[in-house]
Formats: sequence, structure tokens, C-alpha cells
Amino acid sequence: MTTHPLHEETLDPADWQAFSAIAHQALQDALDYLQTVRTRPTWQPLPDEARERLATSIPYEPTPFADVYEQAQRDILPYPTGNIHPRFWGWVMGTGTADGLVADLMASAMNAHLGGYNQSASFVEHQVIDWFAHLFGYDTRASGLFVSGGTTANITGVLVGRQAKAGFDVRTEGLAQHPPMTIYGSSETHSWVAKCCDILGLGQSGFRSIPINDAYQIDVEALTTAIERDRAAGLHPICVIGNAGTVNTGAIDPMDRLADLCEQKDLWLHVDGALGGLAVLSDQFEPQLKGIDRADSIAFDLHKWGYLQYEIGCVLVKDGVQHTDAFNAQADYLEPNGRGIQPSTLEFAQMGIQLSRGFRALRAWMAVKTHGIDKLRRLIEQNVRQVQYLAKLVQNHERLELLAPAPMNVACFRYIAPGLETAALNTINREILLRIQESGIAVPSSTIIGDAFAIRVAHTNHRTRQADFDLLIESILQIGDSIVAEA
Ligand SMILES: *Cc1c(COP(=O)(O)O)cnc(C)c1O
Repeated sequence: MTTHPLHEETLDPADWQAFSAIAHQALQDALDYLQTVRTRPTWQPLPDEARERLATSIPYEPTPFADVYEQAQRDILPYPTGNIHPRFWGWVMGTGTADGLVADLMASAMNAHLGGYNQSASFVEHQVIDWFAHLFGYDTRASGLFVSGGTTANITGVLVGRQAKAGFDVRTEGLAQHPPMTIYGSSETHSWVAKCCDILGLGQSGFRSIPINDAYQIDVEALTTAIERDRAAGLHPICVIGNAGTVNTGAIDPMDRLADLCEQKDLWLHVDGALGGLAVLSDQFEPQLKGIDRADSIAFDLHKWGYLQYEIGCVLVKDGVQHTDAFNAQADYLEPNGRGIQPSTLEFAQMGIQLSRGFRALRAWMAVKTHGIDKLRRLIEQNVRQVQYLAKLVQNHERLELLAPAPMNVACFRYIAPGLETAALNTINREILLRIQESGIAVPSSTIIGDAFAIRVAHTNHRTRQADFDLLIESILQIGDSIVAEA
């Protein structure tokens, strides 16, 4: 072997065989980690020793990969948020899958650029988008894009709607010379909408928070009045947001009525299905979701009820031309050449904010192929049944109270004790929640329903068994009783 006079370097391993041994071990460790997840606490804090070992000065010099891996294994791997655990139901988090792990390994090896390009990965992303567009009831005019998550998917959908309904070219003119635009959604709409109004230049006051009915759905009469009042005042209503599963309680807004109203008033209908949109897979939700296919755009999250690893959300737009109208951009260095790797415009870059994008679609493709949509549907229905079971446990116990209807995969409830007012109960329930989380038994999260602090279970976990909810309820009662006894 001759040594190169230039001493050129690369980041590839100097010894592939040695590297391979560690890499194989890492794969085995990852699989073991998944297989044994039930035996560990749902969550445990990062210990001080690990924190101290991680807090080093900038590493200018190399460390052998084996040592780096060993530290990651010791100080990082054991202390995640915990959402892979069968008793994690906090916020709305996905569980992840073993096939997703392999997909990510392959995607990382390919390191494909999904701006577009003539490559297998582009074909796969189009294919999976087509499947989901079809499942949501869209036809072949539809387009879509995998994005980082629900927030990005929702903002992308509303942004397409802004360009489509502005009546002028927002992209060239900007908003300054025009009447302020407004968008509408129920008071239960997720907080992404504040970021959205902010980013789109409407200002957060551009969001009209519409009251809800007893089922936590948008009050369509109040919505109609608000739109008419704003129009009369010279404002420019452009978009209504329908919730397919609100984050607080899982309520589904009446899609058909919203679609009728938007047609009548020439507004964009965007559906936020980040939490519950995938319920379209189940016939059980057909009545509630009827009309969702009339929405102009739909956002949903595969890293929530699609059970996949982060990050993967999706935006679908009913009319693909409107979608690219909101994002297409020209540049000499991106001009298509008819043949070769870039025969046409970079189609994914023309549908969203990102130019450089990763191959997250592989994770979705592998999961859908491996398990089949029918299995995903059965798991979604299983989660709903399990939440109904939990709601029954709550309703059947005198020291527990269900705080809102649980129509889907979310249940909000609290511990109650005789003679205690809301303020005292709020303090007790917050303490119960924290002790449950810190014990490692389970991770629910919280919200406020009316003025009551609620323990909130949002269930998008494919590992949970019914007995896990028995344990949750037992633990809540036990902790609640001991807090009351301490006082
Ligand atoms: C989670 C959620 C979002 C935000 O999605 P991310 O993937 O966390 O960005 C938006 N809307 C609803 C209803 C959600 O539950």
C-alpha cells in the first residue's frame, strides 16, 4: 500500500470491520431495548452523574467510537421521554415501531435528498402520499407532503389557503396594502394556530376563537356570525379550521356543516387531524368525520396515531395546483434539465418550506406495507376501546370523576374526595399527576377543563394492554387517598 502524500481525510471508519462489530452490537442493543421496555420505569430523570459526564468542553480531539457508543448507551439511552413505554399516555406521543427502526437505519444509509429528483425515494413518497390521500377520500388531483409534524403540516395547509383565498398574490404583494385577514377555529383549537397567525403575518389577533357546545365542538352559528361581523367590519376572512380530534378532549367538529359554510362564504376549510385524523381508517368514526374529504387541506400526524417514530406529519391538499401555487420558486441552480437526476422541477420543494428534506417517507412505507392498513385500523379501534374502558373505570368509582366526554382516544378525569372544593382538588390532582410520573408507574399529562385540573390520558400507544389502565387507576386512587390522609 502506498501512503497518500496529501494526507486526505474522510469521516468513514478507518477499520470497517471493527466498526461493524460495534454497529451490530448497537442494533442488537436497540432491539433489546424495545423488547424489554415494559420492565423499565415509564420515565426516570437524567441522573446528576450522567448530566455531569455529558457536560464536557468542546471535544476537539477524537474519542474512539466504542467509547462514545458506550457513553451514549450509559448516559443517554436509559433516559428518554418514555413514550415507547406501554404506560405512556401523556400529551399526544407516538410509540414507534421495530420496523420503523430498520427503516430509519436504511434511510440513514441512503441519506437521500427528498427535494425531488429522479430516484426511488421520490417514487416512494408519492406512493405513500397517494395511499393516504385515497384513504382520506381525496381524488387524483390531490397532493401532499411529509413534514416534521402536525404543527408544520397545519401551517402549510393554512398557508396554501391564504394564497388561494387572498384574491391577490400574497407572495409578491405581501399583506401591507390589504385589509387584515382572519382565520377561525373553536376555542379548543391547538396552540399551533397562534404560531401560524404569527408566521403568516396575520398577527395572533387574526385568529377568531369561536365558542364550543357541550360536546366541545365548534358552535357553527357563532362561527357564522363571527365571519359575517368581520366581513361587515372590512376584514378579510380566509380560512376555517375544523378539528378532527381536539387536543384537550378528542372532540370532532361537524365537518359537513363546516364544508357547507366554507362553500357558501368562499373560505378555505383546513382540517387539523394531528390527533385524530387517522380515525378515518375506522368505519366507527364515519358519521363523525363525514365531510372531511370536502376540506381543502388536511393535516395529520403519523408520529401520533400512526405509531411511527419522530418526526413525521403529513399535509394533504385537495387541489395539487393550489398547493404548488403557494410554494413554487425559480432559481437558475434548480432549473430542470429534462433528463438525468433532475428531469423536472423539485416537486417536493414546491409543496412546502423545506428544500433539503430527508427520507421520512420510508418509515411510513415500511410500516404500511409490513402491517397493512387493516391492522392500523384495528389498533386505532383498540385504543378507542381501551379509553372507553378507562372512562368506565372512572365513572364507576365514587372517588373519580370524568370531566369531559371521551368520544375518541382522550379521557380527562380527576380524583375527588368528599367536601373538597375545586381549588383543593386542583392541588391534589396536580400532586397525584406528579407522583405518578415521578414514580415511573405511568405518564399521563394534564389540562384544564372548565376550571378543573384534569389528569389527561391521550392514547396513541400500540403497546398498552387493558390491565395497564387498571394499574393506572389503582395507583391514582392509592396516591390520592394518601395525599388526603397526609393533609
Ligand atoms: C399534536 C397536535 C398538534 C401539533 O402537532 P406536532 O406534531 O406536535 O407538531 C396540532 N394539533 C393537534 C390537535 C395536536 O394534537
